[in-house]
Amino acid sequence: MTTPPVRLVVDRGACAGHGMCYAVAPILVESDEQGDPVVLLDPIPEDLLDDADTAVSVCPERALSLMPTAPSDSEDRSR
Ligand code: SF4
Repeated sequence: MTTPPVRLVVDRGACAGHGMCYAVAPILVESDEQGDPVVLLDPIPEDLLDDADTAVSVCPERALSLMPTAPSDSEDRSR
C-alpha cells in the first residue's frame, strides 16, 4: 500500500525564520533571500517523508505541517 501524496506547508504567519527546517531537511526546504523557508518538492517523495516529518517536528513555532495533496492538484499535473 502506498502513502497518499502529501505536501509540506509553511504557515507564513507563524514562521519566525529560525531556519531549523532547512537545516535538518535541506533537500526539501531552502531559505529565500529574506531567510523565509521555501518548499522545494511538492508533493513530498515517499522516500523523503521521514525528512519532512523531521522538519515538522523541529519547528519551534509549529509553522510547518504535512497536508494531503488536493485531488485537483494531481489532476492538474496529469494534464
Ligand atoms: S523552523 Fe519553523 S519557524 Fe523556523 S524557518 Fe522553518 S518553518 Fe519557520
